[in-house]
Amino acid sequence: MFSEDYYNLLSDFDRFYILTVLYEGPTHGYDILRKFQKRLKKKESPGIVYPFLQQLEERGLVTCEKEMHGDRERKIYSLTPEGGRFCEGLFKRFSSIVSAAIEPGLERCAHCDCTLYDGGHWEMVEGAELMFCCSHCARSYKKERGLPVDASETNELTAKVE
Ligand SMILES: [Zn+2]
Repeated sequence: MFSEDYYNLLSDFDRFYILTVLYEGPTHGYDILRKFQKRLKKKESPGIVYPFLQQLEERGLVTCEKEMHGDRERKIYSLTPEGGRFCEGLFKRFSSIVSAAIEPGLERCAHCDCTLYDGGHWEMVEGAELMFCCSHCARSYKKERGLPVDASETNELTAKVE
């Protein structure tokens, strides 16, 4: 595992993550900080969250409503329709970057060619180790080639991709 310092190199990721939390629905600053802790195991600095929320508000991507919580005032932040579109554009861009980076390293099922994100099923077929998404695909693969379908060596792999 990398230490917190490494993740701090990527401070823009924090802002990206804040947008994903806002995209889930209206939220307040404290809730964002709590989600960093809970989901990313990261202690986020209020010094990043609050100024960023303010910048989003200044650009009309987020609106802020004050709500009384006991005797304290709390600010609830919501994405504006424009903010929602901004997030969607970012997510699309981000997901295509991420899939370009990880896809070539992922294995594919030898039968149906689907991508094996969470491990899969391997079998020795004619002396070669082949990956399949499931035992059904392995059976079909062998049937199509007229090979015996009862494999002696099979193994279920889980969490192959880390
Ligand atoms: Zn398959």
